[in-house]
Amino acid sequence: MIKVAINNENKMFTINSNNKVEPLNNSIIEKNIKLSLMDKCLKPKSMIMVNKNTGDIIFETSELYPQHFYPQTILDYANAIKVGMKGNLDNLPILSISTKDYPYCDFRCRECLADPTRMWAIKNINKCVLELEEYKKILKEIARYSRVRGCNSVRLEICGEGNPDMHPDRLEIIKYAKEECNMSVVYISTGSKMSDELLDTLARYAYYVRISLPGISEDAYEYYSNQASKEKFTYNDAMKLLDRLCKRRKKYKREDELMIGVRTCIRSKNEGHYVELSKTLGQMGVDSFQMVKVLTDHIEDKRDIELSEKTQQDLVEISARYEELGLKHIQTPKLLDKLYINRDFLINKKPTKCFSSIVSPILYGNSLIVCIHWDKIRDKEGSYYGILTGKENELEEIMQGERAKFIRSQYPTKCSDCCSLNDNLMLEVIRSNLALFNDMDIIDFMLVY
Ligand code: SF4
Ligand code: SF4
Repeated sequence: MIKVAINNENKMFTINSNNKVEPLNNSIIEKNIKLSLMDKCLKPKSMIMVNKNTGDIIFETSELYPQHFYPQTILDYANAIKVGMKGNLDNLPILSISTKDYPYCDFRCRECLADPTRMWAIKNINKCVLELEEYKKILKEIARYSRVRGCNSVRLEICGEGNPDMHPDRLEIIKYAKEECNMSVVYISTGSKMSDELLDTLARYAYYVRISLPGISEDAYEYYSNQASKEKFTYNDAMKLLDRLCKRRKKYKREDELMIGVRTCIRSKNEGHYVELSKTLGQMGVDSFQMVKVLTDHIEDKRDIELSEKTQQDLVEISARYEELGLKHIQTPKLLDKLYINRDFLINKKPTKCFSSIVSPILYGNSLIVCIHWDKIRDKEGSYYGILTGKENELEEIMQGERAKFIRSQYPTKCSDCCSLNDNLMLEVIRSNLALFNDMDIIDFMLVY
């Protein structure tokens, strides 16, 4: 079967029997390959770095994490590093920003990772919930900063530190980010407080909506979400919400670009429901299903709990059959061993540079912060680039100034663990391969389908 590779300018290539890349030069095949945005992002099997002069593949990676970057791809990151290496790697655009703009939640999930930090944030960050006009100016400034550095559409990940549905200006923020800043909105929530207007706004403007399910049966949902109010949001409510979202997306004819996903943690009370839920989601039109291990904040005694045999079997079955079940993409843990993971650095894996704090920092209220690691959130002196007000050109000073330089000199050397380890390792591999070439213009990156 012919292997097709596509670069960032949508030019098509093929990989010949000598494992060299050459132009496709077949207009019939080119015309027949029509990839929607979702196919383009979800279907690649690998990314290759190619010497354009010789067609040689210099390195190849299958670690693509499409749902992590959607609607961007790893290609956007590779090309940004390539451009950055011609000048200053600290001057990369912000490709993606995660905004933690609402530190209140209606759920009290067991093992909620946001719990300790949002309590801290409410006390210690002067503006956790921004006024709409200030928020708009900040988004505009981020979009401007990245645009002049080559990124025309910043990925804006809205996930609160609580329930983002509850933000009073949510509809305006989403609409403004898309229409005035050309941002690609990614929205992550349980959906428990999603009004019909919010659902409609997401169906029209967002690129990825991911609904988090604390549990994947009625009992498990009730138990893990641990809601205090009498009016509880149930598993069935979440399923109905997903169904409405899929239908609304269809109404706006956005099935090819708005990805709808679900994420759940692998927990004991979810056992026996993974396959059944995958099937239901596939039938509904949901595209992506992530089943992830629970992250621990140094909960030593929990790390050794083994995944049950039944759960391991179900996850293996889903990995093999997800397309047949109607899903476009799934994520299951690489190692089906322990129930819990933590984010400790593996000593021999520590990258030389923290790229993610440059290309994907966190907007925490009005503060720009290197990452969402617990220690960093609390360390206002050592991890906060600065406060954003939305004034034009202020990001140059914040991201390129002395303070930022000092902060960058500390990381990742002084980090004992990392919340963006995979991103940093992947970007490091790209950087180190590019460093082998004096003339980086002879290098191209391509996704292989
Ligand atoms: S919905 Fe999220 S933020 Fe809210 S309690 Fe659950 S895990 Fe924490
Ligand atoms: S933990 Fe350290 S290395 Fe990892 S993203 Fe945060 S600042 Fe960077």
